[in-house]
Amino acid sequence: MTDVQMNGFDTLQVHAGTEPDPATGARQVPIYQTTSYVFKDADHAARLFNLEEVGYIYSRLTNPTVGALANRIVALEGGAGGVCTSSGHAAQIMALYPLMEPGRNIVASTRLYGGTYTQFTQMFKRFGWSCTFVDFDDPKAVAAAIDDDTRALFCESIANPGGVVTDLDAIAAVAEEAGLPLVVDNTSATPYLCNPIAHGATLVVHSTTKYLTGNGTVTGGALVDSGKFDWSASDKFPSLSQPEPAYHGINFHEALGPMAFTFHSIAIGLRDLGMTMNPQAAHYTLMGIETLSLRMQKHTENTQVVAEWLEGHDKVERVTYAGLKSSPYHETGKRICPRGTGGLFTVALKGGYDDCVKLVNTLQLFSHVANLGDTRSLVIHSASTTHRQLTDEQREAAGAASNVVRFSIGIEDPEDIIADLKQALAAL
Ligand SMILES: *Cc1c(COP(=O)(O)O)cnc(C)c1O
Repeated sequence: MTDVQMNGFDTLQVHAGTEPDPATGARQVPIYQTTSYVFKDADHAARLFNLEEVGYIYSRLTNPTVGALANRIVALEGGAGGVCTSSGHAAQIMALYPLMEPGRNIVASTRLYGGTYTQFTQMFKRFGWSCTFVDFDDPKAVAAAIDDDTRALFCESIANPGGVVTDLDAIAAVAEEAGLPLVVDNTSATPYLCNPIAHGATLVVHSTTKYLTGNGTVTGGALVDSGKFDWSASDKFPSLSQPEPAYHGINFHEALGPMAFTFHSIAIGLRDLGMTMNPQAAHYTLMGIETLSLRMQKHTENTQVVAEWLEGHDKVERVTYAGLKSSPYHETGKRICPRGTGGLFTVALKGGYDDCVKLVNTLQLFSHVANLGDTRSLVIHSASTTHRQLTDEQREAAGAASNVVRFSIGIEDPEDIIADLKQALAAL
């Protein structure tokens, strides 16, 4: 296939990272359900452990099925390399682990997935890390929050709980000026709608649990490195740019250039943290990702129709969807997500908290679940669930005030989605 052009997104989502199985010719990627791999001889084993030759040692580090998925996601994101992880949250830790040490901090957007907020405030403390939260609509405030101990900026492209698009160009400029990597969670947008690396991101993380798998079957995550960051430009990233005692003194950046972060992620991150994706999960996600563009087109079309309908409803106070002309993120959305701004948005109801609870109880086609990015339409009242542990002010800043419900619009017929919303709103 080497001479044939394979550049388009629709082609890559079906072919990238895979070829017919070399052992059997199997057209689909086999599920390599094995923990370990026989070395050809002692020399071969030594070369693998020295990172002189790329190959398989043990499935906590690499596995052909998981590797096929990682390579496909890397191709779709336009990265240099990457790894898959056991969940989206694992991918976030894997992204930060090579950059951080006790006493270091990151600067992150206030608008984050609820679980990410908890990870950055609670779990971080145990590592001696901290996070400063800033409104990423204000790049000057982001720049002002950076100090000598900051090691990364973190935001979502289409930010939870929906309707907000981060101006990645502006934030990447701040990161570049400060000599810091920008980490972008591209879960809600997917590489079909947004290409963070093209807008200056260094690292991209995903919860593959959502749109990339698309059918709500498995949790998983992915981490993609652009390969473009110069880890040796300062002394801020010693694990990548100086001899690393955790891997017999190798200088990853010197030895591996643009693949330094990826090899560090495998040789140290997956080896020591063990947050590995299993081959069954990789298989489900490989099946799902083949239709990513088709689903995202339908999600986006449906969401536009449903958001417009809701905006005109008299029980609705506000709809925050960047696809609406009324959205302050409409223009940014067109630049950052030129194919559309995805399937998530929030609705503020005039009837407040009680009406939100009643709405989620009355909807029938919609499933009330703590998930997004499924083929099915989903709804959640963030204030009483995912954002429950936040204070009122934090919820407000995160776009999850108590009178707000979040929708993840599926790929059903839009008429049926609207009919369900109509009956539920009528019952309020
Ligand atoms: C779901 C989600 C995560 C966490 O992913 P898991 O696979 O649940 O660990 C992180 N970020 C965003 C935007 C998400 O939607």
